[in-house]
Amino acid sequence: PMVREHYLDAAAPRPKITTKLSSNENPYGPPMSAQEAIAESAKRGNRYAWQEMADLIDKIAKKEGVTPEHIMMGPGSSDLLEKTALVLFMDGGNIVSADPCYMSLINVAKSVGATWKAVPCKDDWSHDLKAMEAAIDKDTKLVYICNPNNPTGSLTSGKELLDFCSRVSEKVPIFVDEAYIELAVGGDTQSMNTLLAQNKNVIIARTFSKIMGMAGIRVGYMAAQPEFLKKIQKITRGGMGVSYTSIFAANASMDDLAFQDNTRKLNHEAKQYLYANLDRMGYKYIPSYTNFVIFPINMPGKDLLAKMTAKGIAVKAYDIQDKPWCRVSLGTLDEMKVFVGALQEVS
Ligand code: PLP
Repeated sequence: PMVREHYLDAAAPRPKITTKLSSNENPYGPPMSAQEAIAESAKRGNRYAWQEMADLIDKIAKKEGVTPEHIMMGPGSSDLLEKTALVLFMDGGNIVSADPCYMSLINVAKSVGATWKAVPCKDDWSHDLKAMEAAIDKDTKLVYICNPNNPTGSLTSGKELLDFCSRVSEKVPIFVDEAYIELAVGGDTQSMNTLLAQNKNVIIARTFSKIMGMAGIRVGYMAAQPEFLKKIQKITRGGMGVSYTSIFAANASMDDLAFQDNTRKLNHEAKQYLYANLDRMGYKYIPSYTNFVIFPINMPGKDLLAKMTAKGIAVKAYDIQDKPWCRVSLGTLDEMKVFVGALQEVS
């Protein structure tokens, strides 16, 4: 693998973080509509939320153009990524993905015995779909695609991905993680959900943590063929980890299009501000279709982490292709000003 994430030394001093730009959260959430739904539903928390869960699943199924049997809920999409990895790879096999990519599903697959076939991204950091297809062999149990990708923020053309998924899912299931898809502005973006109605063996993961601003509320879902979900359900129950209040918050936030539009707009403004300042300082970033931006830096990643942490700023640092990079989440404009000021000081 060509990516290594850096962490602060365990013994290093840890000043209080006042500007948290490390986990790609939405600084504007949760929407007021969701907060009100949580307050209202908390009183009913003595009950299991079977009916309300079914109502939410109906609503999600309608939005995705599938039946309720195509949907499985989880406390965040992480839960569903991990369940998929556990069930599919408990007897070994290999998983094909891009490198760099989001590692949750792959790490769990590796932990239970899978081999990771990492396929380097293309020069523009999009998925090398041709090379990924060529990497598939008789032991491949899943192809994992994260689009837009993390930690790169890059986008793979929706049209090309649709063609790839449509063809290649005849050979092996394809898991498409669309955590950031609603934040992609100005690219050829499309959900792979349309393939489900065509009976293709694709799995779409979506989360309420990003555009909906509810990372701490924990709601996500996957949409897949009912037979695929049955395989997961046989071993581990989907939806059991989602709380009554989270279900209500998710339901309310889906209707709150104004909040989603506002997040998209403010995220885009923060990105333009960051781009302008990175340009001014001579940093070359990867164009981002998400709520974070990654760029090469001129000091070891560990040093950047230590210097930023000393200023109360949390970011992420990686080595990619043996060079140090900083990944910064897009916060409010004020938070971006703090980050830009700090970057100026430490560079
Ligand atoms: N997928 C991607 C690509 C992510 O970046 C994240 C979180 O950062 C997740 C999934 C998991 O998010 P959650 O478990 O909050 O839905």
